[in-house]
Amino acid sequence: MATMMETLSIKTENKFRTLISKQAYRKGQVICSMPSENIMDKPNRFTVQIARDKHTHVGKLAALNHSCDPNVILDTDKMLMIARRDIKKDEELSFFYPSTEWEMQAPFICLCGASNCIHVVAGARFLPLSTLENHYLNPHIRDMMIELLKNTKQHLKKLQES
Ligand SMILES: [Zn+2]
Repeated sequence: MATMMETLSIKTENKFRTLISKQAYRKGQVICSMPSENIMDKPNRFTVQIARDKHTHVGKLAALNHSCDPNVILDTDKMLMIARRDIKKDEELSFFYPSTEWEMQAPFICLCGASNCIHVVAGARFLPLSTLENHYLNPHIRDMMIELLKNTKQHLKKLQES
């Protein structure tokens, strides 16, 4: 399947980049596939995490901003970007960064204004399970969250025993 990003354009305003959809999409529709030619073991601001130690350079998709109420999902299992709800032509696209990122290189404060805003965007490992449960999560994030919970339980057990 081709990456097909012809329907996406990058808008730059005061050095702030946004990704715009040049056409409308229906909820659940595939918008494009995610590039996977260039895989690294460390994250940077042009990558999306696709597995525990794998970060893929996403090209144009690096202009996707974070939102706590996003309109697209990045499915790192199928390597697809999918509409989370109906999207209008010329609408800015955004996704929930902790749905792919475990621990981000450059955390920031979110000002998206959504009622469920998480405020500090630093990666999934810094969010409570109750928050993550309300979002689409990729398998590698689920796995690492389960592992973190197990380690915490073992740690607490050790503390009680000592
Ligand atoms: Zn937010």
